[in-house]
Amino acid sequence: MQKKYFIITIGCQMNISDSERLAAFLEGDGFKLAKKRHEADLLILNTCGVRQAAEDRIYGLINTIRKENKEIKILITGCLSKRQDVMKRMLGKVDWFLPVGDMALIPALFKGDDNKLKFSLDSYRLKNGEKYLKVKPKYKSSYSVVIPIGNGCNNFCSYCVVPYARGREVYRPAKDIIEEVKNLIKLGYKEIILVAQNVNSYQDEKYNFAKLLSEISKISGNFWLRFFSSHPKDMSDELIKVIGSSDKICHHLHLALQSGDDKILEAMNRKYNISHYKKLIKKVRMAKPGIAITTDIIVGFPGETKAQFLNTFKVFKEISFEMAYLSQYSPRPGTVSAEKMKDDVSKSEKKRRFEVLNEELKKVADDSHKIYLNKELEVLVDGFKKGKYFGKSSSFKTVLIDAGKNKLSIGDFVKVKITRTRPFGLEGKIITKIK
Ligand code: SF4
Repeated sequence: MQKKYFIITIGCQMNISDSERLAAFLEGDGFKLAKKRHEADLLILNTCGVRQAAEDRIYGLINTIRKENKEIKILITGCLSKRQDVMKRMLGKVDWFLPVGDMALIPALFKGDDNKLKFSLDSYRLKNGEKYLKVKPKYKSSYSVVIPIGNGCNNFCSYCVVPYARGREVYRPAKDIIEEVKNLIKLGYKEIILVAQNVNSYQDEKYNFAKLLSEISKISGNFWLRFFSSHPKDMSDELIKVIGSSDKICHHLHLALQSGDDKILEAMNRKYNISHYKKLIKKVRMAKPGIAITTDIIVGFPGETKAQFLNTFKVFKEISFEMAYLSQYSPRPGTVSAEKMKDDVSKSEKKRRFEVLNEELKKVADDSHKIYLNKELEVLVDGFKKGKYFGKSSSFKTVLIDAGKNKLSIGDFVKVKITRTRPFGLEGKIITKIK
């Protein structure tokens, strides 16, 4: 009988893309996708360790899945795949822990060749560790695609597990990426999302990220181009110019601020200061008027005083982010902040700081949406629920679409007139479909 697999993905777009490669690899080896998770012989959990909440969700899932199917083989990959404390905690519940770059080992593990593999694993990794980016993925969507341009991170922000979980930066050849995008555009894909932990430090011979982005934006066809994530320390004037110069590059930049206080930024090992960050925002807004800027903020980092938090609040208010992913600091095992700094801001104070920023965010988001009222926006349709279509604008706004009698398809570009704004979204009426 054909063996079946099921993949549960938690976390960022990089994990989503890795899971598409895992699926393609397993199917190439004769596995078949199980309709339901408890029907699988092999369940892969592609994990995220960036926040404690994501980690707790994984522990809960493993316990439930074990109850549903006692025979199932469980493999953990992603951020938690190298964590000794997780291995201890999950002893007897998880069969294997394997970094995603070692996916080629899965068939042998599944056949029970564990010992032979353990013996040869180190030399195997040296040869094959990052070749997984060459695996042709099984794309889940027929209109929007996440394309990893590299993997890993060299930055070692003091709170972050990614450099330990994914290793050092490795980038794909520019010609492979450009070829992949060209093929996808020919197949009719409408949204290309380039991802890496830090896209701005992309390098391949004569290509840096600005050149790669520029080259891709010149490919003919009707498509949008997005990218995540950018690090403020590596955001060059050349890149800002490219962002401003092409209509295909979306009106959205996600640029993690993390803190509005220079001392805390230093403790976080972010390698930029507030003045640099503010200058970048000014340049980006000048280069591409109307661009939506979103960010990440951590509140309650070790040693963050009330005055330092107030600095974050001031910068937050001044920049007026259209969206922010706020998190309350939680120490991640193995990182510098967890091992060497004291988690000395109380839970209740972290929560208070989070609420303060969240309230400000709601106000700013609401105001920033009002400017869209009665304006016409291009929207990429990405869902249908309760008789209404919804989609995303170039500036990454969720738009609820009243399509009238028009029949739309997921992946259509439509022109919409905005009739109502809400704190976290827009509503509008369709004007026309765009060819
Ligand atoms: S840049 Fe910093 S936060 Fe981003 S992945 Fe690298 S270490 Fe983590």
